[in-house]
Order: sequence, then C-alpha cells, then structure tokens
Amino acid sequence: MSRLWSQVTEVKGIGEEKANDLKALGIATVHDLLFYFPSRYEDYTLKDLSEVADGERVTIRGTVYGEPSVRFYGRNKSRMTVRLVVDQFVVTGIWFNQHFLKTKITPGKEIQISGKWERNRLQVTVAETKVTPPSVNEATDGKPIIQPVYPVSSTVTVKQMRKYISQALKQFSQEIKEILPAYLLGRYEFIHRAEAITSIHFPPSTQAGRKARDRLAFEELFFYQLKMQAYQLLQKQNQQGLSLRIPLEEVRQFVRSLPFRLTNAQKRVIKEILDDLSHEHGMNRLLQGDVGSGKTIVAAVSLFAAVKAGYQGALMVPTEILAEQHMQSIVQLLSGYGIQVALLTGGLPVKARREVIGGLQMGTIDVVIGTHALIQEDVFFSRLGLVITDEQHRFGVEQRKILREKGLSPNVLFMTATPIPRTLAISVFGDMDVSIIDELPAGRKPIETYWVKEEMFDRVLGFIEKELKAGRQAYVICPLIEESDKLDVQNALDVHAQLTHHFAGDFAVGLMHGRLTSKEKDEVMRAFSENQVQILVSTTVVEVGVNVPNATVMVVIDAERFGLAQLHQLRGRVGRGSEQSFCILIADPKTEVGRERMRIMKETNDGFEVARRDLQLRGPGDFFGTKQSGLPDFKLADISQDFEQLELARQEAVALLGREDFWKNKEFYDLQVYLENEGIMEREILD
Ligand code: ADP
Ligand code: MG
Repeated sequence: MSRLWSQVTEVKGIGEEKANDLKALGIATVHDLLFYFPSRYEDYTLKDLSEVADGERVTIRGTVYGEPSVRFYGRNKSRMTVRLVVDQFVVTGIWFNQHFLKTKITPGKEIQISGKWERNRLQVTVAETKVTPPSVNEATDGKPIIQPVYPVSSTVTVKQMRKYISQALKQFSQEIKEILPAYLLGRYEFIHRAEAITSIHFPPSTQAGRKARDRLAFEELFFYQLKMQAYQLLQKQNQQGLSLRIPLEEVRQFVRSLPFRLTNAQKRVIKEILDDLSHEHGMNRLLQGDVGSGKTIVAAVSLFAAVKAGYQGALMVPTEILAEQHMQSIVQLLSGYGIQVALLTGGLPVKARREVIGGLQMGTIDVVIGTHALIQEDVFFSRLGLVITDEQHRFGVEQRKILREKGLSPNVLFMTATPIPRTLAISVFGDMDVSIIDELPAGRKPIETYWVKEEMFDRVLGFIEKELKAGRQAYVICPLIEESDKLDVQNALDVHAQLTHHFAGDFAVGLMHGRLTSKEKDEVMRAFSENQVQILVSTTVVEVGVNVPNATVMVVIDAERFGLAQLHQLRGRVGRGSEQSFCILIADPKTEVGRERMRIMKETNDGFEVARRDLQLRGPGDFFGTKQSGLPDFKLADISQDFEQLELARQEAVALLGREDFWKNKEFYDLQVYLENEGIMEREILD
C-alpha cells in the first residue's frame, strides 16, 4: 500500500486538530490532499502596464490618490471610482456595487486590484480587491509565481492550504506513480503524473499549469469512461435483467381516464418505455422533452405499469420542492387505483421516515418519491422494478452501482429538459437509449417573451397587476450573484419588500430562497400553488420542474446574469395552462453577445433551438456549464471545453478494456491497483 494513503497527520505541520478541519473539506489522506485542486490562481506576476494589451486581465498594485467617489443609481446599484498611482501612471479603478469598500480604501494606502484593463482610458474594472496586499517577498520570493487559490472553510485558510500541500509534495511526491499506460503518455504527449500534480498546485508558468491540467483532466475522463465500460460489461454479464409482465389493457384504461389526451409524442415515448420494461435486457433510457412537454405524466404511466406488473417504483428529483409537487400530482393520479405512494425526503420527521422505510422493505408501499438520499441511505426495497429520475443531475454510474450493490438491477429512466446532443449522451452515459418528446400539449399558447430595460420596472409592475386582477399569478426571479448565496438572498429580500409595499392591501407576495428550511419552502410553495399568494419572489430555487399552471407571468430581474438554458427553464414555469403567458426579461447587457442572447430568448420558445443558437454564439460552455445539464461533475475536466477529450477518453477506455490481457499484463500493474483501490472496477468483472 502506497504511503499516499496514510492520514494527513503524516504531513509535517498538520496536527490532529487541523486534520479534523481538513476532514470537513473531504480531505483525510495525503492522497486526498494532493488531489485537492485549486479552484483558480492568483497571478502575482505584477505586470508593467505599458505591456498589457487592451481588454486583458491585469493585477496591479498602486497607491490610493484622493478620496473614492461613489455614485448610486437604479435599485441598489453603485459605481465607485478611485485613482491610483501605479509606476508612472495614474490609473482609475472602477468598482460596481462594492461601495462598502470605500472606508477601506483611504488616500495614501497601497492596494492591489485585479480586473479588466482598458488601455485607452487607463482604467481597470475591478473584479478583485486586496486592501492589504500580500508582501511581494512572501508571495513571490522575488520570482514570478502563480499562486493557487483553494476552496477553503472558516477553519482552514488558503495560506495554510498552500503550506500543507507544498509540504505534502516535498514529503510524498516521489510516491506518486504513473498510472496511465505508457502508450497513452506517448500518444498525447502527457507529462508524468507526479510532475502534473506538482504543477497543478504550483505552476512555474501559465503554460506548465495548462499542461498539468490537460493531463489530469484527461485522466479523470479516462477513469470515468473506464467505469462506464466496466458497468456495461457487468450489465451484459447479469443477463437476468427484470422483465416485467405488464397488463397492457389496464394501462390503456388508466391512460383513458386521464384528465387530458396524451400527445402523440407522449404515447410514442410511453410505448418505448413499456417495451423496454417487458424486455429481458431491461431499460436504460434517457427521456428528453422541453419544459412543459409533459414528462411527469409519462413517469406516472410508467410507474403505474411497473406497479401493476407487481413491482415497486421510485421517482427521484433534485429538490424537496419538486418532490413535494410530484407527490401531490402523482397521488392524485394513482391513488384511485389502490396504489400506495409515499414521500421520502431529508425533511421528514424520524418517525414518518421510519414508517416509509419499513413500508418499502415490506412491500406495502408501491411508489416512493424523493430526493436522491432515497437510494443512498438505509433504504431497501422489497421488489424495486423501476427507477425514474427527473431533472436529476447526479444520477450517474455511482448511484447505479449502489442500486446494484443492493442486489437490484432495476430499469432506469432519466428525464431531462436539457437537449443533450446524441453524441454527447453516448460519451457521457455510455449506451443509453434516447427518447424525445418533440411536441407540446395541444392548446398551449406560445409564451410571449419581452426584453425590457430596468427603467421600465414600473411598467412591468403595472403589467403584473393587470394579470393578477385577471386572477393569475406571477413569479419574480431575483438576480443571480455568482458565488454569493448571501447576496442572492439579500436581493430577494429587497425585491420582496419592495413588491409587498407596492401591492399592499391587494395581493400577497411570497418569498422563496435557498436559506429557508425545507418545511418553510414547502409552505411558501403550497401557498403559491393554492393561490393564497399571488406573487412569488424567488431566487433560482424554483427553476426546475415546478408546476403552477395558474401562473402566467415570469419576470426575471438582471436576466443577463443567467445562462440561456437557465432562462429557458425559468420561462418554462409559465405557459403550463391554457392562458396566454408572458416572460419579461429585465436586462441591460453590456456586450453585443449579451444583447444577442436576449434576442434569442425573444425569438424562440423552443429549447432545442435556444440550445443550438447558444452553442453557435459562445460554444458549448454556457449551455453545458449550468448545473441542470444532467451531465456528471468532474473535478478538473469541463465537458463544455473538454468535449473532444471526453470522446477520446471513451475510445481509449474501450480499446484498453477490449484487450484480452488487460488484467494479466504487467505493463498495467499500477493502473490495475489504482482501479481496484478506488473502486472503479473489480478484477472479477473482467476475468
Ligand atoms: P415537464 O415536461 O416540464 O415536466 P409537466 O409534466 O410538468 O412538464 O407538464 C406541464 C403541464 O402540462 C402540467 O400541468 C400537465 O398536467 C400538463 N400536461 C401534460 N401532458 C398534457 C397533455 N397531453 N395535454 C394537456 N396538458 C398536459
Ligand atoms: Mg418536469
């Protein structure tokens, strides 16, 4: 066993107490520590301004010259300018919405700022401020050094993290073995693993850092693909897939009794699912359908079929709000048929939880709906036959493995509103079948989308009022502030206060954000679905899945801050009934691309089209970068950028595991050990 697996206390300078703090960050072993990658870097190579190109990001250090001047505008917006003397220049720093820094930026003080350099105006739009810059010597020792920045906690600082990792590298870097086969290193000109780990933490240059990242990202994708392949091989070996005997006539009757007629697309997809379920090879299917295309009912029919065939079904969703909603609608649909449906989420009281778990194990509960804690904890089923995930982002190989370890090889259906291109779906999910609902229910009026400037906010309020008076409801989504849950909440609070005041006496305004407990969220959501509250002010927690057909207005404040996929999801919260619905994007984008994005939203209602044009506009990044993409999270690799690497990794994984001699060949010894240790695959699979 390599010494890399020893406890972090083996690293000089880390005592028991720190080890505990590190554990909270998921770091227990030396290996964990070395693989705790920086989230970004600080480039302390202070640049000579005369050499920096226009528009480039720059870090400069200068002396504050004169008092900062602050101007307020709009709702809660501010612009602060400060003049700094940097070498022979007088540079203007501009801060947006950070006037709270004013008291810390006093004349004569030296500060360090990073941001975008506007050469003609000698101006920096500041993204980052250090009011007490680190001493040059300490940070750089005189040499140009790029310093890593780690995601840390209140008990571990970035500085400590740098120290620990640097020390760990000193003691243990010679233990880092190469695990990629030599032929891959040659083929892709990858640097050695130990060198990559060292450089990812402390890159001697930007270029070296990139090389390290590329190699480690490939490694990550490669292991992911090996795991996928192993999973597939295992599935092939376990040929005794479940084949459900579905009473088709009963299903037909159930469908006929629904409050509406299914669309042709829904019928086709249901048939594909029922075919899979009845087949011995089982189901592993991705169901794509734009927001509002009616995926929930497809899930309900599939669950009905599974239960009537004598099995249990589970529906997993990413949030408790969504679980609660699905619970309501599915109970309504299924309970008339003697089907027992239960809810299982983290928020459930202990006693209720115990009852549900008991019921699942005894088989008295037929369908369970919940967040994905559902399969991870002490939950056992008596005869699980179907697992459906809705808008579930992390249901990957891991979870399927957990199911398998519980002795279950159930049929799996993934439902998503994200249009994942087929080729990518194959790269990511292996050999999944894909079904598409490409038709909206009849009678839907296309949502009208408007893009307005912030000055029009009063008119937007007037418009909301008109709709409310007609008996409808509205969502108002508050700006997304990157990396700041706290500011998001503050924003929502402000907007809520403003609207409450504006509509006082006429309409009730609810508030929803991520800091509420799940019980509070449920209450707010229920009040909104029952129309006790007419306006729901919310952060993006409502973005996925929520269904309140009486809501006809979706207002998104500072829409330019959202990705198009997310805006499309948000828009999909309205237009779910027969009334005309509206989406109002309040935005003042600063760039042409930003304006084009608003135009795209105005011009099309079709999620696939939005995705296509978004891809054209800025590459896959924006679309797949969002958390709703349904794609796995990697530590380093980024599917939006490493699209091609992912496919290469897949081909290499297929090729390697296709070799008869893989487990016998000494050449792969270190890789074999690694795969086993990390639980990526077991020797027996392939023997
Ligand atoms: P999504 O695909 O976004 O999950 P939902 O399943 O929430 O969409 O369905 C959106 C709305 O459309 C719901 O109110 C649902 O009852 C309704 N709906 C679904 N299918 C049909 C249909 N065939 N005809 C009419 N309304 C439908
Ligand atoms: Mg849905």
